[in-house]
Amino acid sequence: MNARACNAPIAFSALVDYWFGELDEAEEARIEEHLLGCGDCADRLEELAAIASGVRALVRDGSAHAVVPAAFVEQLAESGLRLREYRPPPNGGVNCTISPDDDIVVARLVAHLEGVQRLDLVVRSEGGEPDRIQNIPFDAADTEIVILPSTKLLRTLPQCRQVMQLVAVDDAGDRVIADYTFNHTPYAPHG
Ligand SMILES: [Zn+2]
Repeated sequence: MNARACNAPIAFSALVDYWFGELDEAEEARIEEHLLGCGDCADRLEELAAIASGVRALVRDGSAHAVVPAAFVEQLAESGLRLREYRPPPNGGVNCTISPDDDIVVARLVAHLEGVQRLDLVVRSEGGEPDRIQNIPFDAADTEIVILPSTKLLRTLPQCRQVMQLVAVDDAGDRVIADYTFNHTPYAPHG
């Protein structure tokens, strides 16, 4: 056993936030300093990164949405993170929120991807410009695209509607696969 085992381990959820670059500067600096002096926690961070192996498959668009392999989410759940998951039907919608107890929110976009060459994700928020993430990672055998929206952002959202759209792109142009509507309401304890 490691004689210098960490007696103040960084919470796994904080490591995830650190890894996603979601912490404020002070908290990030605190964790960075801890990681420099703590092999234990540095190893745990490395494990976290390895979980999403082929980390290149992880696409982060600004601070808004990460497209991740489904296996990554399973690992997060096994690690004890509390997940809130939504799976709106294609061309349908779902009511969603984020509670103070949720570590991660998972959006699952069910889609038939056989024959798709390139896949783009378009996110439309009320009152904002559409945000197009090009060339998201997928496997033709996948039955859903798994997206982790920024929990930091979600916690700041008022009641609003966000529409995600999967678009197949090839030489012939764009083909919309489906729309997925998320009707967000801020968390209400008795809602
Ligand atoms: Zn530590």
